[in-house]
Amino acid sequence: MMKSFDVIIVGAGPAGGHCARQLAGAGISVLLVEQHQTFEANNFSSSATPLETLTQFDLPAPVVGSFWNQLVIVSTQVRKQWQSSSTLGAVLNFAKLREFLAGEVTKQGGEVWLGHRYLSHDSQEDETVVMLKPQGKEPIAVRTRVLVDATGAARSLIYPRRQQRPDFFTGTGIEYLIQVDDSTYQSCAESLTFFLGHHWMPQGYSWIFPMERNILKVGAARYEGQHQILQDNYPPIKQSIELLIQDYLKIDDYHRLETHGSNLHYSRGLQDIYYQDNLIAIGDAVSAVNFLGGEGIRHGMASAQIASEYIQEYLASRRADFAGYQTHLHQQFKRSWDISEQVAKKVYLDYSDRRIDQGLAYLGTLELREVIDILFYYRFEKITKGFRRILWRKLTGFWQEIRQKLGRSSRIS
Ligand SMILES: Cc1cc2nc3c(=O)[nH]c(=O)nc-3n(C[C@H](O)[C@H](O)[C@H](O)COP(=O)(O)OP(=O)(O)OC[C@H]3O[C@@H](n4cnc5c(N)ncnc54)[C@H](O)[C@@H]3O)c2cc1C
Repeated sequence: MMKSFDVIIVGAGPAGGHCARQLAGAGISVLLVEQHQTFEANNFSSSATPLETLTQFDLPAPVVGSFWNQLVIVSTQVRKQWQSSSTLGAVLNFAKLREFLAGEVTKQGGEVWLGHRYLSHDSQEDETVVMLKPQGKEPIAVRTRVLVDATGAARSLIYPRRQQRPDFFTGTGIEYLIQVDDSTYQSCAESLTFFLGHHWMPQGYSWIFPMERNILKVGAARYEGQHQILQDNYPPIKQSIELLIQDYLKIDDYHRLETHGSNLHYSRGLQDIYYQDNLIAIGDAVSAVNFLGGEGIRHGMASAQIASEYIQEYLASRRADFAGYQTHLHQQFKRSWDISEQVAKKVYLDYSDRRIDQGLAYLGTLELREVIDILFYYRFEKITKGFRRILWRKLTGFWQEIRQKLGRSSRIS
C-alpha cells in the first residue's frame, strides 16, 4: 500500500531539516527526503554564522566546529583586523548540523529517507503523489497533503522546467578542508579571515575559517557576469585557494582531507515562485541566502520556521492556501537583500583593485560592532554614519588647527 504523510519535504539541507523538525515537533506526520546516502556526501558549506544562530534555532554544542571572536579582512594592499574579548560566532560542522536536524525529526516521530531522489509529483484535488527513486531500486510512490521544495539552488519541484526559472545572479564556491600543524592552525584560530581584491580572488572573494583543531576551511567563490574592468580569462577557482595556502598561510606541508563546493543561484529582485497550490518553497529555493557574503544557513532556517507556521495553519484548515507567505518573507528580507545585491554587484563586478583597497581602509576606521552590523545584519547605513564621523573628525581637527594658528599669531603680534 502507498505510504501517506501530511507533509513531504524534499531536501535535507538546513532549511528542509529545520522545517521537518518544527512540523514533527507539532505532531504532524512528516517525511524528509534526501538524495544523498549520508550527510558527509555533500558537505559543501563553510557554515560561518553569528552566535545568535545557536540560540535562535536551539542548536547543541556538537554541531559547532569552532567559535570565532575575531574578523580579519585582507585586500591586495590592505589588512584590517577587529577583535572582541567575547565569542562572536561559530563555524558549524555542516554535516553534523544536518544530521542533528534529521535526528530531531525521527526522535519526534517523523521519517527521514536518505538516498531517495525526487523525480516528479502529480496533484489531484487536495492530494499529491510524489515519485521517489531509492538508490539502486525501482521508483516508489508516496502520498502527501503538502509538498515542500527544500532542494536549495536546484529548485527541482517549484521549477520542473529550467526555462521557467527567473533571472539568476550566480556564484560558484569551492572549499578545501586541510589538516595543518599547530602553529598554522593557531594563526587562524578563532578568526574569520576574508580576502577581497583582484590579487586574491578576481570577481569574488576567498576565505580561511577554523573548522576544528588543526583543520582549516580554505575556499574561494566567484560571481558570474562581465566585470567592468577585468577580462574574463581568470585562472580556475582552485588556483585562488592554492594562492591562499602558499602566499598567506605559507605552507607546503598540509594534508587535503576533502574538496567540496556548490553553486548559489540568487533570483535578482527576489522574483522566485514561493508557492503553488499545496507546494511551498523554502531556503535557497526562494533565495533566502544573502548574496553579498553567500550567508544562507540561518536565513534558510528562518524561512523554514515561517513556512512551517503557514503549513500548520493550512493543515488545520485555518487557511485555504499559502497566500501571505511571500509577503511575509519579503518583509523579513527584501529591503536588505536588494541593497546587498547592489553592493555585491559593485564590489565583485565593478570596482578596481584600488577602490577595494580604499573601501577596506575606510572599513578599518569603523568599530567592530559596526563592521558586524554591516557584514551580518546588512545595516549599510552604518557606512554613511562612519563617513559622517570621519568628516566631523576632520572638520573639528581643522578648526582646532586654525584656532591654534590664530592663537599663536595673536601672541606673536
Ligand atoms: C561554498 C559555499 C560556502 C558557503 N558558506 C556559508 C557560510 O559560511 N555561512 C552560511 O550561513 N552559509 C553559507 N553558504 C550558503 C548555505 O550553505 C546555503 O544557503 C544553505 O545550505 C541553504 O540551505 P537549504 O536547505 O536551502 O539548501 P541546501 O543546503 O542546498 O540543501 C538542499 C538539499 O536538497 C537536496 N536535493 C536537491 N535535489 C534533490 C532531489 N531531486 N531529491 C532529493 N534531494 C535533493 C540536496 O542534496 C541538498 O542536501 C555557503 C554556500 C556555498 C556554496
